[in-house]
Amino acid sequence: MSAAKPPKKASIETILAQAGTHYQELVSVSSRDVVPPLHLSTTFERDMDGTYPGGFVYSRHNNPTRALLEKGEWVWMKKKRVVCLVIIPNPPSSLPPAVMTDIEDGAEWSAAFASGMQAATVLLQAFGANAYLILPDDLYHGVRTLVQSSFSEWGLRNECVDMTDLEAVEGVMARAFADEKTSRVLVWMESPSNPLLKVRKEGGREGGREGGRDSALLQFRRRRTHPFLLPSLPQVTDIGTVISLAKQYSQKHRKDYLSILDTTWHTPFLLQSLLPLHIDLTFASATKFLGGHSDLLAGVITGKKTKPLVRGGCDLFELEVPIRHIQQTTGGGLAPFDCWLLLRGLKTLPCRMRTHCENAGKIALLFEKHPRISAVHFPGLASHPGHGLHREMMRKEGMNGSMLSIQVKGKERGKEGGKEGGGEDEDEAEVFRILARLRVFRRATSLGATESLCEHRRSVEGPLSQTPRNLIRISVGLEGYEDLEEDWRQALSEEGEGGREEGRRI
Ligand code: PLP
Repeated sequence: MSAAKPPKKASIETILAQAGTHYQELVSVSSRDVVPPLHLSTTFERDMDGTYPGGFVYSRHNNPTRALLEKGEWVWMKKKRVVCLVIIPNPPSSLPPAVMTDIEDGAEWSAAFASGMQAATVLLQAFGANAYLILPDDLYHGVRTLVQSSFSEWGLRNECVDMTDLEAVEGVMARAFADEKTSRVLVWMESPSNPLLKVRKEGGREGGREGGRDSALLQFRRRRTHPFLLPSLPQVTDIGTVISLAKQYSQKHRKDYLSILDTTWHTPFLLQSLLPLHIDLTFASATKFLGGHSDLLAGVITGKKTKPLVRGGCDLFELEVPIRHIQQTTGGGLAPFDCWLLLRGLKTLPCRMRTHCENAGKIALLFEKHPRISAVHFPGLASHPGHGLHREMMRKEGMNGSMLSIQVKGKERGKEGGKEGGGEDEDEAEVFRILARLRVFRRATSLGATESLCEHRRSVEGPLSQTPRNLIRISVGLEGYEDLEEDWRQALSEEGEGGREEGRRI
């Protein structure tokens, strides 16, 4: 007998807390473990008649531990009579729970990969042929490098744009769709942007929007040209309006588009449902918050199976098949042990996120008032220009993520009434002095785990980086808030605690 199913419309917290515990609907294990067993076998035995009674053939195609995350292809492939790598003799009438699909409203399948970058690569391999890719100007540098090195050699045309500037987005869309070589347009989004959470020189505030999506562009234009309003950009991507622009140009030029959103920083737990908002595919580095413990690399793509083609009729744009095909034929799927670790990490995502967000919200307020800090980039702050728009996109009141970045002032510049000397060199030197004094925050790349991390982002991104030299990116962890605050207070003070150059870990 299989474990009892969660209630029909289980909350996201319930789905996550019980991640993988319904494994008996996929495989039968007589000891009836509560925690899913780890299936390391790369191959699965056939019956006398040559069929696969267990439903699994070979681990590159699928594996019982990975299936607990993904859901989708086997039943669906059978129904559609697509050449089928995985045959289930008696497919279940309803699909067994699979956590990464179930937590995204409207999702029909997910595919787990060996890293976030592997997932990004598969997206471009699957949909990049003859495509025009529109990217945010401020995005994870690994994706930019992948696109502008390997994929541009394959002929993938791409253009970066400030996604928070709807007029600029419209300009790029007009070019992309009109280009005669374009067969489809890929709109790649990241929210919030990385690492700047949109750094802009302009000041000014902007509240939430009024009116529907259709009027958003109009309002945006008015605000930007209004003589009495500061010419600020919201610094948060208005996903709904970007998609409606893509739709408009797609219909005008009779060319398809695909929207892809990187949800790594906020996760589907914090972001409001994406697929009902017409995002075609979401993708996340599960190495970060989803895994949550800095001990596994993983990436997940989630989506609907198909979308209507712009030319209409009964033809559909296949979204799952091309991804699944590459996953099964090339072998980038997530390995069983990493699937198991990810299932374990996911169970605690809601409570980890609550503490992450609480700590980050408090520390952002500390930074906002600190004289040594010239800018705090955190859309959870009421002073952030995109705060209103950001709140609309979040599922949970008061939970705004735990990634932020700050820009620091050089020593002389930080002093009240101090002289403006040293410029950017001095600011950057000050960043390294501050980082050296931190005792609780670890100086390391990555984010989203229990421990707080921070880094000078520009030096990780390399010579092409556009990140300001005085910027520190911070991933706020789950430590006691008092320890985090105390750490920054002493690191930002004139000499740090006791004047040490190199911090001591607590
Ligand atoms: N997307 C974002 C926003 C990221 O921050 C990262 C990694 O830092 C990735 C994608 C790539 O993920 P991975 O390191 O798992 O390959």
